[in-house]
Amino acid sequence: MRRCLPTREPGFSIRQPWLIFLLLFWAIVPDLDVIPGFLVGDLGSFHNNLTHSLTAAVVFSALAALILRCISRCSLTTWFIALFLCYGSHVLLDFVTYSERGLLLLWPFDLKRYESGVALFYGVRWSEGLLSYHHLVTLVSELAFTGMVVGCFFGMGENKAALHQSRFQQRIPVTQ
Ligand SMILES: [Zn+2]
Repeated sequence: MRRCLPTREPGFSIRQPWLIFLLLFWAIVPDLDVIPGFLVGDLGSFHNNLTHSLTAAVVFSALAALILRCISRCSLTTWFIALFLCYGSHVLLDFVTYSERGLLLLWPFDLKRYESGVALFYGVRWSEGLLSYHHLVTLVSELAFTGMVVGCFFGMGENKAALHQSRFQQRIPVTQ
């Protein structure tokens, strides 16, 4: 995997912790649909709708990848895969989280709400308000899962870079 750092613009560089922060932030972007609910006094009124679909994962990740491609040396494909994995991991986690109404996974092609039937996570109970111990448990478990996905992504990149370096060194004759 080609390194995403540094950027093209002098004086502006995204360091790796920021890159990880960005990817982790992208993993919670689907839940920003609680903001309009917060404004109207009902956190759950807009939650788990359009932002929790595969279509949103593709479209939002593609748009963000286009922007990030302009400010970094990473390819559009690399950005898209990284962002889609983060966004998609959120949708996947919500899919396997206890829910009473399911997700609009295939919106707008199918308006059916899908449930996995297997609940691996507790989820967020917006009826408990913003501050709840259960929310912390959910946040930590989902971030851990996303961190695992991001770690695998970077791990694959390291292996590819090491393989490339190994092949490059094999081409250089050793002279003494
Ligand atoms: Zn969610």
